Amino acid sequence: MTDLFGVSPEHTSLSETDSVALLDTTLRDGEQAPGISISPEGKVRVARELDRVGVETIEAGSACTGRSEREAIRRVVEADLDARVSSFARGIQEDIDLALDCGVDGIGLVVPASDRHIETKVGTSREEVIETTETLVAYARENGLWVEVMGEDGSRADLDFLTDLMATALDAGADRVCYCDTVGHASPEHTAEAISRLAALGPTSTHVHDDLGLAMANVLASIRAGAEAVHATVNGVGERAGNAALEEVAIGLTHCYDVATIDTEGLYSLADTVANVTGVALPPNKAVVGENAFAHESGIHTDGMLKDDAMYEPYPPELVGRERRLVLGKHTGRAGVRAALADHAIEASEEELGETVARVTELAERGKRVTDADLLAIHAEVQGRARDRRVELVDLTAAGGGPTPTASVRLRVDSEERVAAGTGSGPVDAAVTAVTEALGIADLHLESYHVDAITGGTDAVVTVEIEMSRGGRSVTVGASDADITRASVVAMVDAIDRLVSATDARVPTAD
Ligand SMILES: [Zn+2]
Repeated sequence: MTDLFGVSPEHTSLSETDSVALLDTTLRDGEQAPGISISPEGKVRVARELDRVGVETIEAGSACTGRSEREAIRRVVEADLDARVSSFARGIQEDIDLALDCGVDGIGLVVPASDRHIETKVGTSREEVIETTETLVAYARENGLWVEVMGEDGSRADLDFLTDLMATALDAGADRVCYCDTVGHASPEHTAEAISRLAALGPTSTHVHDDLGLAMANVLASIRAGAEAVHATVNGVGERAGNAALEEVAIGLTHCYDVATIDTEGLYSLADTVANVTGVALPPNKAVVGENAFAHESGIHTDGMLKDDAMYEPYPPELVGRERRLVLGKHTGRAGVRAALADHAIEASEEELGETVARVTELAERGKRVTDADLLAIHAEVQGRARDRRVELVDLTAAGGGPTPTASVRLRVDSEERVAAGTGSGPVDAAVTAVTEALGIADLHLESYHVDAITGGTDAVVTVEIEMSRGGRSVTVGASDADITRASVVAMVDAIDRLVSATDARVPTAD
């Protein structure tokens, strides 16, 4: 297989199989992470995207958690997805009944596997665990459920007992058994040994955590030892250090081993949705989906990238639904600035280029991020001309108190004044609605929105940096103010002005 760079990566054989099934547990294990709570609407949104990329199973939650959780699981079931929808169930019949009540296709039946869990947590014995597992698997199967038995704390269990337990589960009719490294403590060697024992019995999946930073290594060890399915969460969200990350598993398997899992082109959108619904921002250096994963600043790198896309990237960003970004900073050279200006249809002379690079470097060395807007302003100044603004903020009033945050804006668009009001989930949201309303431009998209406090304290000045796009063009703009709503609107209006000014199109009338 040749990839989008037109090169054939050397693939190592990982196992006999050329595809591995993914069970996504973002909505269950991911939601168990401290501080995360996903609304039923959020769960349905994530589930739809997971279904679109083609995961085998979506673990939608734990039916035993409560009424609203069951409601959320039911809504995922009703979304009529191709993926199997399952619920987590503890080793008691009541949990299975609650899962059945939600209409799920299957359950992840968790039973204690290590003596620590059997004796100290549940207060039972190995014999009783085997007996209960047999009864419950049979019960769930009789009720038409797909059943995967998860041996909790399996990585710290006595391996002979774990093997007996899982053999019992499969004999009782379980569709698959799952090796769980619940506390993320195992080495790839131990993982391989445990999985090879279970895989000899029947279909086996692997569920690993990243406490040692070994989640991905343990996933690979599992597949090599015969696992046919992997549990993962989007962005690796999960308890403590999190789970194996869905996007890393998917891209790692296809890139290094030519093993298919899901449609990787949907990964970035999925990561973005999960970051939104969980409120857990992506670290900039996160593999595959972090902001910097396909960003290039350094002068030499940028120069190399402009000559050959593959120079400093393992695979093209399009493969995971992203775009390459050339970022301006203190390492930026002429090639980077020339390319960034060309993105805005500006062809700079050699002389202008030298002066613009010097000014960009100077700004970056003062610790400021250089946005597209900064670059365009610098270039305009170098050329000795002031920019004509087509869209300008005249006045902004926003009120966050009361049940419905509202905002009104007065804009000057070309030579006419426009006024509009909006409501939203907060004052920023309301102001953004008002601006959109005043302009009546439907094809504007807010691609990203970041807020940084420059100084501490409640009177901190905040910097809002946004990226907006229209058609094939995108622009990043930053604005600072003590008032976050004002900074957001100033940045947004500035971005819109640049996007509108880049075309000759008239701003539509706002009706
Ligand atoms: Zn887990």
